[in-house]
Amino acid sequence: MVQENLHRINSPDWRLSNLEKVEMTCIFCQIVARELAAEILFEDEDLAVFKDINPEAPVHLLIVPKKHFDSLNSLDEETAQIGAQMLLTAKKMAESQGIQSGYKVLINCGRQGGQVIRHLHMHLMGGWGRRPFGR
Ligand code: AMP
Ligand code: ZN
Repeated sequence: MVQENLHRINSPDWRLSNLEKVEMTCIFCQIVARELAAEILFEDEDLAVFKDINPEAPVHLLIVPKKHFDSLNSLDEETAQIGAQMLLTAKKMAESQGIQSGYKVLINCGRQGGQVIRHLHMHLMGGWGRRPFGR
């Protein structure tokens, strides 16, 4: 029994921190690490932007911090800057997608707030009523 526990404590999995365990199972962390495929349209040191797999608008992108935060509730005074970066990136992506004249941004927070993926992300949606190319 003691032997068994010693083996467990020394196994690599046992020594992983909680954060590392979250990152291994979090699909947005996996997308950021290129372990899971996604259509990534932009990235910088702190953020990645990719297409929502189940779009609810003609343009539907997700703006995701590379560092794992569970939700908006995880931000504090020290990390609030990432929120500002997400907003500015939403504005820039709206420009590059040609939807700057009208778009929405949305952060669902918590299960009751509609958050399904427990990794902070901002939805950028727009493109309604846009003329098809060539018209
Ligand atoms: P939320 O309800 O705010 O947590 O939004 C999660 C969003 O992530 C939904 O709009 C999903 O369609 C989207 N989503 C889930 N899995 C993936 C994936 N593998 N790649 C891209 N988007 C995803
Ligand atoms: Zn994550």
